[in-house]
Amino acid sequence: MLLEVKGLSVNYGHIEAIRDISFGVAEGTITTLIGANGAGKTTTLKTLSGLRKVREGKVTFDGKDITDLSPERRVKLGISQSPEGRGCFPAMTVRENLDMGAYVRSDRKSAAYAQDLDRVYELFPRLKEREKQAAGSMSGGEQQMLAIGRALMARPKLILLDEPSMGLAPKLIQQIFSIITEINQQGTTVLLVEQNAAQALKRSHEAHILETGEIVRSGSGKELAGDPAVKAAYLGGD
Ligand code: ATP
Repeated sequence: MLLEVKGLSVNYGHIEAIRDISFGVAEGTITTLIGANGAGKTTTLKTLSGLRKVREGKVTFDGKDITDLSPERRVKLGISQSPEGRGCFPAMTVRENLDMGAYVRSDRKSAAYAQDLDRVYELFPRLKEREKQAAGSMSGGEQQMLAIGRALMARPKLILLDEPSMGLAPKLIQQIFSIITEINQQGTTVLLVEQNAAQALKRSHEAHILETGEIVRSGSGKELAGDPAVKAAYLGGD
């Protein structure tokens, strides 16, 4: 397992946002957490990127205990997050935002860096066209792409994607999911959080269902997509 989460509990004051959750993310996979509003999906990702403190439990990445590491150390080890709700720096240009994603890298003048930038521009040609535009003036879909591109610029082994399809038109949702598959096929392991369960399950190797802070079902994407109870609760019954 590239990432292993064991008995993780996280609180906001007295509120238990996640309770004793355990799951793994195998190298090379797309693993998805699905669940309703407030189930604890974002909290899980924020905890994995070091933005929330663990109350109990252990997180291991690439064989190292990272439970108490700072966000910066985790980015250096190879975990980077594309946050929910865009999260770009609005006054900065597209290119400046992408450079910010690579702030922990010491090789920003290298050919490898230029290659990574090219890779992001190949995945998202729109970002290349808008390289000099202020991020805040771009559409929601474009900002979503920028947030993913920025996370990729850290050259992660594991990318954490928080609701990348949120607020996008159906055509763009398809496009974002194809790009996620492509990122994975190029060698990046993906941990995805999604409310768009049908699309996410279709493309996931493994998936876990979170309900009020606990994992209640786990299985392959296919298995869960075909399960009548999952269909009724998360796939609109069809
Ligand atoms: P959504 O899909 O709506 O973003 P989620 O599954 O990502 O939901 P979380 O945002 O992780 O859920 O929230 C889990 C629980 O923790 C919820 O009950 C929420 O109200 C609570 N919570 C989240 N952030 C805070 C906070 N900053 N302070 C207090 N409670 C919080």
